[in-house]
Amino acid sequence: KVYTEEEIRKIVRDQNVRFLRLCFTDINGTLKNVEVPLSQLDKVLANEIRFDGSSIDGYVRIEESDMVLYPDFSTWAVLPWGDNEGGKIGRLICSVHNTDGTPFAGDPRNNLKRVVNEMKEMGYSNFEIGFEAEFFLFKEDSEGNWTTKPTDQSSYFDMASEDEGAKCRRDIVETLEKIGFEVEAAHHEVGAGQQEIDFRFDDAVATADKVLTFKMVVKQIAKKHGLHATFMPKPVEGLPGSGMHTNMSLFKDGKNVFYDKDGEYKLSKTALYFLNGILSHARALTCVGNPTVNSYKRLIPGFEAPVYISWANKNRSPLVRIPDAEEIGTRLEMRSADPTANPYLLLAACLKAGLEGIKEAKMPMAPITSNVFEMSAEEKKERGIIALPSTLHNATKYFKEDKLIQDALGEHLTQSFIESKELEWAQYTQSVSDWERNRYMNY
Ligand code: GLU
Ligand code: MG
Ligand code: MG
Repeated sequence: KVYTEEEIRKIVRDQNVRFLRLCFTDINGTLKNVEVPLSQLDKVLANEIRFDGSSIDGYVRIEESDMVLYPDFSTWAVLPWGDNEGGKIGRLICSVHNTDGTPFAGDPRNNLKRVVNEMKEMGYSNFEIGFEAEFFLFKEDSEGNWTTKPTDQSSYFDMASEDEGAKCRRDIVETLEKIGFEVEAAHHEVGAGQQEIDFRFDDAVATADKVLTFKMVVKQIAKKHGLHATFMPKPVEGLPGSGMHTNMSLFKDGKNVFYDKDGEYKLSKTALYFLNGILSHARALTCVGNPTVNSYKRLIPGFEAPVYISWANKNRSPLVRIPDAEEIGTRLEMRSADPTANPYLLLAACLKAGLEGIKEAKMPMAPITSNVFEMSAEEKKERGIIALPSTLHNATKYFKEDKLIQDALGEHLTQSFIESKELEWAQYTQSVSDWERNRYMNY
């Protein structure tokens, strides 16, 4: 729903909104916000709130540091928690513009809109996305700091309904519903303390917006329950990691063009071409979807996370799975990405790769019918199955070689992304870990 100015003003009055939080993301997908008192409402609605972009990761050079926020009225929400004094906080997600009014190319949200427009020029109307973001709930210690103690010892779909984790999950679901989410499923995941909450698919930009709100709500409500929620991909060695499975389909005139009732797995040619685009650019895509050092500790065998570039209809080990679904839900599920990805960058890269696949009109490799992890090296070679990058360093190399994925981010974001990832890797390689001390101290 796109709210009008009048509707926003009315809600502000009726619900005693006293602060306005204007959100956007940096290159890492971290939610940034500028909070202004209600006295600034006119300016907010008229796109007149400025901020200094030079201190935001991946934003601007000093000489052009002034940025303007254009709120998207469809993202209006009153946060379910107040300002501690009985007042409420209103929230709007914004696009970042230059002072001359043009969209700022370094804003990941603007960039996703740009790639969505390329899709529209090809005749499609919507890129529909459903994310499945997994996370862990850990106990806090007496000082309120995180620990790695899970809230429970349960597992997948367990009914240990009275532990703090389950209570917290229900509270999260109710809070999400209050601010307009349609929650379709919420369940315990495989790991102790691991949870998943799925909300209904929507257009790419709307879903990317929602996942940021989702993460904010999860963290906030967990805190209220004395828990620490983390979207870190692999918080504890030996336990499953947390993914952000990315379910994708293309629509045209209200119809899902990935569906073909006569196609194998009910997939259309368009879907298969799109899939081929994803598989062909999978290594560079991984850098965008798995952008942290820790991301690669999840992409290992044994935890339902993908390691090889392949696809299948049922099997959970390949990169892309085709879930069983009716017409409207026919989709590709890319299983590599994790919740540390900037959702706007991730979706821009996936869409660009998929559209390129459609343009090339080539069929993907044959689907696999057996577990990739049980195939011999020869068998994998024969079938053309290669591995995903095994470290952030390797993934960044693939990103730097893939012109198409760079185009998906545009020049500005590509530059900041590479800089940011190379810095992260350099810092990591210089750190000395417990693993090393345990292993080498007696040398
Ligand atoms: N937690 C698994 C992962 O790392 C996924 C489990 C599932 O299939 O939902 O991707
Ligand atoms: Mg899951
Ligand atoms: Mg899934």
